[in-house]
Amino acid sequence: MAEAVTIDRVRKVYASGLEAIRDVSFGVGAGEFVSVLGPSGCGKSTLLMMVAGLLAPSGGEIRVDGTPVRGPRREIGVVFQSPVLLPWRTVLDNVLLPIEMLRLSRGDYLGRARELLAMVKLDDFAGTLPRELSGGMRQRASICRALIHDPEILLMDEPFSALDALTRDQMGQELLRIWEHHRKTVIFVTHSIREAVFLSDRVFVMGQRPATIVQALPVTLPRPRRLDIEETDDFNRYVGVLRKAIYSPSEGGPAPLPNLPPGLRRQSRRSETAE
Ligand code: ADP
Ligand code: MG
Repeated sequence: MAEAVTIDRVRKVYASGLEAIRDVSFGVGAGEFVSVLGPSGCGKSTLLMMVAGLLAPSGGEIRVDGTPVRGPRREIGVVFQSPVLLPWRTVLDNVLLPIEMLRLSRGDYLGRARELLAMVKLDDFAGTLPRELSGGMRQRASICRALIHDPEILLMDEPFSALDALTRDQMGQELLRIWEHHRKTVIFVTHSIREAVFLSDRVFVMGQRPATIVQALPVTLPRPRRLDIEETDDFNRYVGVLRKAIYSPSEGGPAPLPNLPPGLRRQSRRSETAE
């Protein structure tokens, strides 16, 4: 399998002096679905934004199809944690935004935009403004927007974390359906162990900041996957292995504390950045 994304000894120290990422290396095959799993604040978004070319590494290199990333690239589509749709534009016009930004012809992509909206069951909402949509619908629209210019690589930063559990399950299934259909290379960031196992070919576990990869776990559960796979012993064995990797990483040091209540998480992050 050809490598679509190569993350080669990447390091990130922010201008504040905070070392977010110490040393991360892994490759993602073309058409592969990988997740980056780790506790809040460990550097997942930092890593993804570097792959997207929106943030420069302090050391090491990221390559897409063998060429170093120096800025945003056409072959990459990004879905952010909260669906950043422009409130004054309709769903269709939001989906077509990258086409305008890339100065491509809108007319050439209108049919594709409608197809994508139909694929995520939003075809009846093409002319609707974002404020009239539910959170799940907005997130689906932003997935269409990330796919409109047919990027080879899709980067997703906790795209379902603001959704309720039922919508989240549905969106996961929907995403796998899209992926099975289009076979994009996907890097999916999450702090949910079950979500990572359900979706991925491989899961990379990031340790606490400054981040390194503490485990790379291939998930060989059969595809296509349906939600009831989560009840199988095999699925839960993967969950167990990953939980162990997160809570008791082999390299010693204090175990990370994922899934802290939001109040505590803010507190501990404040004290981290105050160091
Ligand atoms: P995650 O996505 O895993 O929650 P982030 O990549 O957002 O983690 O953040 C990793 C660390 O880097 C955190 O301690 C965060 O506070 C810090 N950080 C993120 N962005 C900046 C920035 N622009 N300047 C300084 N520190 C930052
Ligand atoms: Mg993040």
